Amino acid sequence: MKFRSTRDSELTTTLSDALLQGLANDGGLFVPENFPSYQLDDFLGLDSLSEIAYRFLLPFFRNDQLEIHLQSICENAFTFDTPLNFIDANNAILELFHGPTGAFKDVGARFLAQCFGKMESELTILVATSGDTGSAVAAAFHGISGVKVYILYPKGMISDFQETQLACWSDNITSLRVESDFDACQKLVKEAFSDEALKSKHNLTSANSINIGRLLPQCVYYVASCIEYYLKNQKSASFVIPTGNMGNALAAIWVKEMGFPIDKIILSCNENDTIVDYIENGKFNPKASIRTLANAMDVGNPSNLERFMDLKSHSNHEFDYISAKSVSDGEITISIKKAQSNFGLIICPHTATAFNNISKLQISDWIAVSTAHPVKFKEIVEPIVGHNISMPANLIKFLDLSKNYIDMNPDLRELEKFLIKST
Ligand SMILES: *Cc1c(COP(=O)(O)O)cnc(C)c1O
Repeated sequence: MKFRSTRDSELTTTLSDALLQGLANDGGLFVPENFPSYQLDDFLGLDSLSEIAYRFLLPFFRNDQLEIHLQSICENAFTFDTPLNFIDANNAILELFHGPTGAFKDVGARFLAQCFGKMESELTILVATSGDTGSAVAAAFHGISGVKVYILYPKGMISDFQETQLACWSDNITSLRVESDFDACQKLVKEAFSDEALKSKHNLTSANSINIGRLLPQCVYYVASCIEYYLKNQKSASFVIPTGNMGNALAAIWVKEMGFPIDKIILSCNENDTIVDYIENGKFNPKASIRTLANAMDVGNPSNLERFMDLKSHSNHEFDYISAKSVSDGEITISIKKAQSNFGLIICPHTATAFNNISKLQISDWIAVSTAHPVKFKEIVEPIVGHNISMPANLIKFLDLSKNYIDMNPDLRELEKFLIKST
């Protein structure tokens, strides 16, 4: 299969090349040239997520150099469960937080890392992070041969636990603590990519969330969970999805478009309402982001909206199965409390936006997508639920690790020195 830019249908490339480029040359995002169609029967009898992943992803890998490696990529990437936790007969929570760093970004990051690990060339990955993405990327790429990773994060702006998750690595992972804010880290990465000499000398590439190699594997847990629900209840569930940059939700929309049994898709945003505005009024007005309790969704200019607009412009049907609604910090707090008292569940602030919309919009037959383990946001959640949250086994190992970072100024030549030293 070929992948094309959202900005120019003629600009196509292979999957491997789309993974390496991240962003298309014209600034657009890569999307599949066409979507395969599947039969439910194709998936019956497959038990593990990695088998489902292989069956689902193979058409996207056809004729690419990675096709022969896909089975092993799936086996190494889908090493943890994404279970559907039914709270009663018709409603369930899709738990995406059982991976190595406790957030759904582990799925995409691990898959992309495995893909890069199978490529012939030596690569250098640069990532700017405000927290969760960097830790998922670091954990996923640690020990992948032929790939060096540099994580840039703002000094003093992330939690102690997040910093440990970022900076506990060594070997092929280098954590750079930048004397500035997140925007400066991101700017530095962009400067490095636009320095053509530097870029080609070190084979620079990115692992950020707009990479198609992170989006495709996210489809897999929607495929698995919508089929499980459908077989159990003989009807389709509606997914309620905490949404920031819209990568997670777009995966669900693609899965529905490919014919899988999904009823409605509800995008749950925090007070950053660019997506809500677009879905409700058709107007795309990117804004500066505002800080909320669900900080991994603090996105004012959601990149993947471009992929959704592209999908719409290539379809001849309405998308009225999609709705979007903002949830305030006050409502997030109330929903964390209610999940505790109604269901005995401790949820993270992002997951709380989904719970809030389920009651506000009176959704039935729902699957609420739980994007992170609440302990990652314990500073917010513990005071609300009134007790300490215990660390799950996948996260407890980080507590004893020491941090191993290098301080730097937000300066491209300084970054270059690190890149040279390690080659
Ligand atoms: C990244 C993230 C989100 C938002 O996902 P998008 O794909 O950006 O919409 C929601 N919750 C958590 C915990 C996240 O880390």
